[in-house]
Amino acid sequence: MPAPDYDIIIVGTGPAGLGAAFQLSESSPSLSILMIDRERICSGGLLNDCKQNYTYPIGFAADNWTSEEAKRLLPMVESVLQPAIKEKHNLEVYRRRAERLGVTLLDVRQAHVGTDRSRVLIQRLLDELAGRGVQFMLEREVTDIFDDAGGTGVIISGGETLRARKVIVAPGRKGFSFLQQAMERMGITYIDNVVDVGVRIETRLDNYPIVNDYYDPKFHFPDGVRTFCTNSGHARVVLERYQGFSLVNGHALSEDQAGNDLVNFALLKTIGLKAPVRSGQQMAVFLATLANEIGGGKPLMQRVGDFRMGKRSTAGTFNEDLYNFPPSCPVTAGDLGLAVPAKIMRHIWSAMKKLDTIVPGVLHPSTIMYYPEIKMYANKPAFLDRHFRVSENVYMVGDGAGTSRGITGAWASGIRAAEGILQRS
Ligand SMILES: Cc1cc2nc3c(=O)[nH]c(=O)nc-3n(C[C@H](O)[C@H](O)[C@H](O)COP(=O)(O)OP(=O)(O)OC[C@H]3O[C@@H](n4cnc5c(N)ncnc54)[C@H](O)[C@@H]3O)c2cc1C
Repeated sequence: MPAPDYDIIIVGTGPAGLGAAFQLSESSPSLSILMIDRERICSGGLLNDCKQNYTYPIGFAADNWTSEEAKRLLPMVESVLQPAIKEKHNLEVYRRRAERLGVTLLDVRQAHVGTDRSRVLIQRLLDELAGRGVQFMLEREVTDIFDDAGGTGVIISGGETLRARKVIVAPGRKGFSFLQQAMERMGITYIDNVVDVGVRIETRLDNYPIVNDYYDPKFHFPDGVRTFCTNSGHARVVLERYQGFSLVNGHALSEDQAGNDLVNFALLKTIGLKAPVRSGQQMAVFLATLANEIGGGKPLMQRVGDFRMGKRSTAGTFNEDLYNFPPSCPVTAGDLGLAVPAKIMRHIWSAMKKLDTIVPGVLHPSTIMYYPEIKMYANKPAFLDRHFRVSENVYMVGDGAGTSRGITGAWASGIRAAEGILQRS
């Protein structure tokens, strides 16, 4: 068998890959480590917005974690990312209102970097790793992984083979197809039975002033609906492009930038699929394709005022007098009712009404609902141990492998894989 080129190859320079690299290079400085990414800079939430949540279970996939395990690792995440934790005010007031409606408001330690400053953070992290001798191969795509009698390693675009003693695969949500193909080829069983589907709300800051007290308020409503990824300051709704369709998402710039008086956040419903429908990814693609088809190749947006009246928004009516701010992401004005499955819409609308009682104003007629916002991160491999090992020498971590749902959870997942490698060495 040819000698390995590296001790460890890490696929993906997102937080899961970085968490593993920091842990490995700190605990065992002599290891030769190569990180590969198909982008020039990691492309997930570390780059976009970079909100960090330091309270379990936010950002963690609960079926792979215990609260104790997360609490042990979160301070390690914090020591590298060095977040400036945001203050919160008047939590009890909102909490009392929420509890009366059967809604829970979570108290989460949060930090926010902002899209304009995240590159500075990422560069610091990469420089620190380079200083420890970690090597990088950027703008190169990994097309396959192998771990068999012939050895362990990856194939990269162009067909080159790189061998390692261990491989950590952390390709994020955008890598879900790559991960599924690799798992199928390697004979690793996986389940993909959960998907989060919802809308992104955009409104004026005056209609959702809670963000002045709590940057990213985490409300959990009945029927598996929750608020997610709230952005304010200079906040924008953005498109996340996939092959054949676009989804919506949101981000904000750092506090250094002038505000635009807008807030956006997602209301997501978690859907657990049962046989015979089993693939969350497939369901996400169907729903997203339908919405983009109705939107003429783009997502849809509708003003709450129109939605309440049961009529579609049109380009002509989108800026009527009550609709007093332009959308930050002008997609196709239309009717969400044609695209969102009835049960999902019912549960989300019910959550919005409750939210409007807790923070009066959010259901102002001008408020925009964008659709679809979908999270497809549930390729859960059958792990062989608690370190996310999937075969003798390969580990799969992060949002793509369903071990996390956010930056800090992904980073902690990387640490867990690294600990597994260090224990078995
Ligand atoms: C627009 C946006 C905003 C977000 N904002 C936040 C936020 O503010 N806070 C938060 O906690 N979470 C946020 N998230 C979620 C967050 O991005 C993820 O939870 C987190 O980044 C997951 O980390 P990861 O390392 O698993 O994957 P990623 O961060 O996605 O990193 C995976 C990396 O692998 C690379 N890759 C994929 N496939 C291959 C391949 N075949 N070969 C080589 N490289 C490959 C990708 O280029 C990417 O850089 C956001 C996500 C998006 C899309």
